[in-house]
Amino acid sequence: MNALSDLQATLEPSRKSWVESANDSANNFPVQNLPFGIFSDRHNDARRVGVAIGDEIVDLAALQAAGLLNLSSKADVFARDTLNDFIALGRDAWRSVRIQLSKLLSSDTATLRDDADLRAKSLVHQADAQLHLPVQIPGYTDFYSSKEHATNVGSMFRDPKNALLPNWSEMPIGYNGRASSVVVSGTPVRRPNGQLKLPDQERPVFGACRKLDIELETGFVIGGGNGLGEPIACAEAEAHIFGMVLLNDWSARDIQQWEYVPLGPFNAKTFATTISPWIVTLDALEPFRVAQPVQEPQPLAYLHHDGEHAFDIHLEVTLRPREAKQASTIARTNFRHMYWTMAQQLAHHTVSGCNTRVGDLMGSGTISGPTGDSYGSLLELTWNGKKPLELREGGTRTFLEDGDELTLAGWCQGDGYRVGFGTCAGEILPARR
Ligand code: CA
Repeated sequence: MNALSDLQATLEPSRKSWVESANDSANNFPVQNLPFGIFSDRHNDARRVGVAIGDEIVDLAALQAAGLLNLSSKADVFARDTLNDFIALGRDAWRSVRIQLSKLLSSDTATLRDDADLRAKSLVHQADAQLHLPVQIPGYTDFYSSKEHATNVGSMFRDPKNALLPNWSEMPIGYNGRASSVVVSGTPVRRPNGQLKLPDQERPVFGACRKLDIELETGFVIGGGNGLGEPIACAEAEAHIFGMVLLNDWSARDIQQWEYVPLGPFNAKTFATTISPWIVTLDALEPFRVAQPVQEPQPLAYLHHDGEHAFDIHLEVTLRPREAKQASTIARTNFRHMYWTMAQQLAHHTVSGCNTRVGDLMGSGTISGPTGDSYGSLLELTWNGKKPLELREGGTRTFLEDGDELTLAGWCQGDGYRVGFGTCAGEILPARR
């Protein structure tokens, strides 16, 4: 047997699991997915590495202790409170664990299926578990790579005829974000205070943000960094990516508008960034690889890669006011619309010699599609508050109100199954007084 055909077998659409909930076509975590995260549960509050399967979590620390998971490194990487040590073992180790788990969880493998004692030790119901930030994040970078988003923002604030600045179509524009305030899904988000410049006043006032917004993004996690002074070639870049998450880059539009010239956003973005708890590996996303949009002008040579480098990931955003029973879907779009690919973002990020480290998080930039209901921010959906959104329950919205719960969801649709990301949610708390 060779490793590549074993890896291919983990993607086989017909493969089923003895964990019955994983075979439900609407479940995000079939045996083809196997995303990694960090969890604890009510019987064991130690954080450890888990993999989602159906409505369950398989405890990799317990599997390894039972001798069911072999790694070439003897290092103990699963009884840890972050994934960093496991990720640092490299792509061969990620793939080996994926192949072993896929076999163990397949309906025709008896080892765990028929051992009630072992199952009790190594499976935890997701409903009984708490999910934690999956990685320690040394650095967070945010890009601006959706042509539709950049065009909308440029039209709104500059000139609809020249919405894109000349540099936009030559490079993946990005900035260094703030890693310390990246939080896991479910963490409440407090409305920030800051400087607001009202149009009829000469000086700013200090107060609570009045234009609090979301940015629908995905993020990728660096699995293999590069040394200082050693750029990552575009064609090699995907091998440095461990996997992807959903990401909400909460944004204070009024604070941003006053502070962003000339160095870009600062307090408008640094108060919180929410990510989904499960990291879906690029190996799991492989069947959903599609062509990226045609790039014109042709990028400079260091941004060239052959083949297809986008992924067909359905994305949606729902908003539920605190008093409402039902959430309203406010946007639906797809990651495949992104103009610049993750590989190009990473090649550009490192071309100057900037180093990246295991666990670094790279935001895609707001993902907007071509139509008015596919925009990834309220700024665009309501055209800077001029066109309020009608909710199913709870009135209308221009920007976010206290008590609003925002949830991003994302999945790849296979034939009879979906490789999902789960959700990325946060509720808005009132500003501090
Ligand atoms: Ca952003």
